[in-house]
Amino acid sequence: MLGTRNEAWKWLAALLVGIICGAWCGRGEPRAGGETAAHTPLAQATPAAKPAPAPDGKLRVIAFGAHPDDCELRAAGVAAKWAALGHHVKFVSVTNCDIGHWGMAGGPLARRRLAEVQKCAAILGIQTEILDIHDGELLPNLENRKAIVRLIRQWQADIVLSHRPNDYHPDHRNVGLLVQDAAYMVTVPFFCPDVRHLERNPVFLYFEDRFTKPNRFSADMVVAVDDVIEKKLACVEALESQFYEGGCNGGRT
Ligand SMILES: [Zn+2]
Repeated sequence: MLGTRNEAWKWLAALLVGIICGAWCGRGEPRAGGETAAHTPLAQATPAAKPAPAPDGKLRVIAFGAHPDDCELRAAGVAAKWAALGHHVKFVSVTNCDIGHWGMAGGPLARRRLAEVQKCAAILGIQTEILDIHDGELLPNLENRKAIVRLIRQWQADIVLSHRPNDYHPDHRNVGLLVQDAAYMVTVPFFCPDVRHLERNPVFLYFEDRFTKPNRFSADMVVAVDDVIEKKLACVEALESQFYEGGCNGGRT
């Protein structure tokens, strides 16, 4: 049982997963004839992020994925387990996935993706947020590093999950870099002093992946999620624009 924080730390686990999001998101351009990427700001339809829960002794976990399906595919199982134990989990998609479909793009697609991950969050019992950064255009710059630092601090995170920075997809890779570059800075008082620094550095963990160069993923912890697999599969079903409609390139690889 994971009733206490210490027990949870011991149990802390790497993340099961299995399905690689890359096949569905962010690869390729919208087809000619599809809705053009008008880039209607997602913010027009995005409710303000909920405030972080008050400290209550439970773990606080925040996961960063590049697109609104990455965290769900990589960590929905372990998130469901944490949430069921009363721990606080938040998924953040660092881009809005506004070109992640073969036949539509821009604001309408971004809002659709937001609605899908909100369904997933309700299934898992967690919070979710999408940053309004264009899909395929994420850069590991100072502005985005500060955004990641602020999110980790605001969540008062004990555990941070993200992609590794060696991934075929530039958005995945840059999320890995941004989180890596934020990992130390979250504790530095005069970096982003508008959000109070963390007194204790969180544990930073990578999502599992299948990339072999420059080095193969090596799991330090593995969590069985058999008991929550139905919730994870329900999330996949909720991501209908990705998994029923062929994603950014209609399923071509
Ligand atoms: Zn992705």
